[in-house]
Amino acid sequence: MTRTTPDQGTTAPLGATVPGYPRIGPNRELKRALESYWAGESGREELDAAARAERERTWRRLTALGLDTVPSNTFSLYDQVLDSAVLAGAVPPRFAALGLDALGTYLAMARGTSGAAPLEMTKWFDTNYHYLVPEIAPTTRFHLDPTKPVSEYREALALGITTRPVLIGPASLLLLAKPADDAPDGFRPFDRLDDLVAVYALLLTTLADEGVAWVQLDEPAYAADRTAEELAALGRVYERLGGLAERPAILVSAYFGDLGEALPVLASSPVEAIGLDLVAGSVPVAGDVPGLATKTVVAGVVDGRNVWRTDLDAALATLRALEPQAAAVAVGTSCSLLHVPYDLDAEASLDPRLKEWLAFADQKVAEVVALAAALRDGQLTPSFQEARTALSDRASAPEVIDDGVRSRLAGLTPEDARRTAFAERADVQRDRLGLPPLPTTTIGSFPQTGDIRRARAAYRAGRLDRAEYTTRMRAEIERVIRLQEKLGLDVLVHGEPERNDMVQYFAEHLNGFATTEHGWVQSYGSRCVRPPILYGDVSRPAPITVEWATYAQSLTDRPVKGMLTGPVTILAWSFVRDDQPLGDTARQVALAIRDETVDLEATGIGIVQVDEPALRELLPLRRVDRAAYLDWSVGAFRLATAGVADETQVHTHLCYSEFGDVVAAIDGLDADVTSIEAARSRMEIVPDVAASGFARGIGPGVYDIHSPRVPSADEVEALLRRALDAIPGDRLWVNPDCGLKTRTYEQVEPALTALVEAAWRVRPAA
Ligand code: GLN
Ligand code: ZN
Repeated sequence: MTRTTPDQGTTAPLGATVPGYPRIGPNRELKRALESYWAGESGREELDAAARAERERTWRRLTALGLDTVPSNTFSLYDQVLDSAVLAGAVPPRFAALGLDALGTYLAMARGTSGAAPLEMTKWFDTNYHYLVPEIAPTTRFHLDPTKPVSEYREALALGITTRPVLIGPASLLLLAKPADDAPDGFRPFDRLDDLVAVYALLLTTLADEGVAWVQLDEPAYAADRTAEELAALGRVYERLGGLAERPAILVSAYFGDLGEALPVLASSPVEAIGLDLVAGSVPVAGDVPGLATKTVVAGVVDGRNVWRTDLDAALATLRALEPQAAAVAVGTSCSLLHVPYDLDAEASLDPRLKEWLAFADQKVAEVVALAAALRDGQLTPSFQEARTALSDRASAPEVIDDGVRSRLAGLTPEDARRTAFAERADVQRDRLGLPPLPTTTIGSFPQTGDIRRARAAYRAGRLDRAEYTTRMRAEIERVIRLQEKLGLDVLVHGEPERNDMVQYFAEHLNGFATTEHGWVQSYGSRCVRPPILYGDVSRPAPITVEWATYAQSLTDRPVKGMLTGPVTILAWSFVRDDQPLGDTARQVALAIRDETVDLEATGIGIVQVDEPALRELLPLRRVDRAAYLDWSVGAFRLATAGVADETQVHTHLCYSEFGDVVAAIDGLDADVTSIEAARSRMEIVPDVAASGFARGIGPGVYDIHSPRVPSADEVEALLRRALDAIPGDRLWVNPDCGLKTRTYEQVEPALTALVEAAWRVRPAA
């Protein structure tokens, strides 16, 4: 459908399109190019060439797959939020002062230099992507640098491909930003919206001069709860941009949920098109959003962040339901395809049956194309029949449905998730473990040396047999145990040398998970992860960690803590099934972990730690959804940990320090001891946690493991004394912020020496 607007004349419909696409390269070409550039092994030309090649490959590929319109400026050397901040001139003075060229400044903001700490990095909504947080001050001098979107638009045009530049919208850019350190109290980046919009206005005029027909402005911050002021501001932004005399047609895209109250605001603004996430969100109710009838809606009906083949019939029905409500319906993915791997066809060793159920980025693009064609001319391509066959096969496959798991789940009672009262357990555990006040421990992993990595890789590749692999891992475990004894730690760990990754390791040992060879997804900058695919009912065919933990315990008289990853974190860092509620999947994983805790206990392990660093990450964007989430996630953790006897001490580790919304939930986990990150904030959160009534063991981190810096005993002592102001000595544990696997032994040994020394100094006061 082509539509006419008074000021734009006839605009091309967006047709089949996507809001974004991966950019790290199908074989991680950009990662390699960046890392070799950083290592000084290649120069600027090689980096530019790799970037250009990836952009060209993307545009050609998306065109060849049949999209009607193709985005540009979705490429990034590091991060799309950083790109938009730089475009708007939001470069903090410490980077400008370095006097570097544009690329140097950009990379300094991303990674820091000896003189300037990088921008903070944080989670991109509830995904596993991390963006760089722009720093905004009252003095930030916004000014337009349109180089990147303009040159990429021209680059594509030179290949004969007309594109739609994509940028973070101004409102979301500021909502994702934080106040610069030197900004006055009470200043909010959002206060600068009018100034920033002036830059975007200039950008739109510049793009129009270039001949750009459509621009996409992403406003995902409006898929979360927003204040009335923020909603009104959104309206003002798009009134202003929409009212420009000379501009491209505007598509405002939001994803990761419903736009809620922001939808009527956008629908009554002069923008031409609105992109909706109809996977996480739903089709707007007719009549609620009258302005929608004048807009093109880009319907995100293909899931952009999970790997399942789309139910094309259902998606087509959604598109048809939307048709009467909008001026035109275009078809897209629910969000950028950044969050899924490139191409399923690259997976040679994935089970062929499972493969039929899946779609990676390129397959999703083909689905979008098929849906757009069906909507346009009612013709169903053969892919509709293929999807039906695949979906019905998946629904009944024995690999997916395991009756044993289902009946075990059905037989659970609330008792299965309940332990004896904490106070009672605490006494029994104190007698059994006989630990000093302020016991010292670590979070689990020790530095992963080249030797360990090579041994794991060789074993995986079949170059090292099981016996030799076990010998090497045992040697490493023994080394780590002896080191901890020498350092004087009270509760020891085996060091996790056998684990490549805390989730993948468990996924590889559980039924119901598959792992990919090339399914890399960008986590941040050049860092990629390969999330496992959780496709079926989960069970544990055999003990996973028991042999390593018991070997470690056999070497020492001090307690060795068994180390497991919790159900919520396993889900958060995997592609999860979409054919049952997440809570059901979580309970299945919980039962598998529970089996492991019980086996560890049976072999004499007295302390089990179940890590849940992702508990807060999965917190829904909208407040109304949070109670239900916390209910199943906390419930899954309890199910995983309530199978052990009173004298077995359960620890959990949560990584982050921003408790805010989840502090009550943490108490609900019913763990005996909880370790959290606290060193960087100098124990700032400890009084809050204590004030919340939390009355269990707590280990606020005293050593910032994210930095190579080694703390002194004096520093650690000061932190511990601060913690003791709020937490009684019989509940305070002494540990680093997180695992040590990214550090070196040269850093870890003196740091742990300081930690133990500080605990000794403080104990008499406790
Ligand atoms: N036990 C894990 C480790 O020490 C915990 C990692 C994490 O919290 N991310 O590495
Ligand atoms: Zn951690």
